[in-house]
Amino acid sequence: TSGINFSKYDNIPVKVSGENVPKAIKNFDEAQLRAAIQTNVVKSGYKVPTPIQKVSIPVIADGRDLMACAQTGSGKTAAFLLPILSKLLDEPQEFEIGKPQAVIVSPTRELAIQIFTEARKFGYDSYLKISIVYGGTSFKHQNECITKGCHVLIATPGRLMDFVERTFITFDHTRFVVLDEADRMLDMGFSETMRKFMHHQTMCPDHQTLMFSATFPEEIQRLAGEFLNNYVFVTIGVVGG
Ligand code: ADP
Ligand code: MG
Repeated sequence: TSGINFSKYDNIPVKVSGENVPKAIKNFDEAQLRAAIQTNVVKSGYKVPTPIQKVSIPVIADGRDLMACAQTGSGKTAAFLLPILSKLLDEPQEFEIGKPQAVIVSPTRELAIQIFTEARKFGYDSYLKISIVYGGTSFKHQNECITKGCHVLIATPGRLMDFVERTFITFDHTRFVVLDEADRMLDMGFSETMRKFMHHQTMCPDHQTLMFSATFPEEIQRLAGEFLNNYVFVTIGVVGG
């Protein structure tokens, strides 16, 4: 069920800036993903990476921060999930309950569930534990991340902060923070919540931060400046402010 029309990408402008930007990949083999992840990419029917994936995958694999702007439907989910899952397997660190190694923040429950489904698909047959928390449902129903623990936590902003305030969850083992659909999070009034999370006292200082957005308004530029270090900036297509 691919929503991607690749032919429309032939003439799409790709702008990349930043210091020493890793070279874009042309195919998934060049991504050098862990075998388990690569197998799941093939199984999911992805043959060629989309433009945002070609640029983002090597940037994330190389340990860089990223600000990526590309329209809805351009394949942003796999652009961050594939290198993150692959790196978590490649450079394993001690697993501890209440200490997620990657946190993906998404504005709505529906989008969070989509990311969760993709993460389970790409992480299939690996030992990676993936959990999700979102509002509008009992706190207790979704406490797997603090009972069994998880490598990857997918969360909506409000519920994530509920867990921060009400449980022992900490981010000192968090190597990847993804703010997905950052512009929508702003529109929904989550900019202070994003700030509170990003400046949380347990946040490990050397994590990679990856921001994805369909548009690039001033407040997103400000947040990028605040949250990202020496980042690679990529825009695919014409991105509005
Ligand atoms: P975005 O987050 O940019 O809106 P998604 O990550 O949701 O886009 O991807 C849109 C659709 O395209 C999804 O159905 C996804 O499975 C599919 N897709 C993503 N990357 C590829 C690819 N390289 N090849 C084929 N289909 C892809
Ligand atoms: Mg998306």
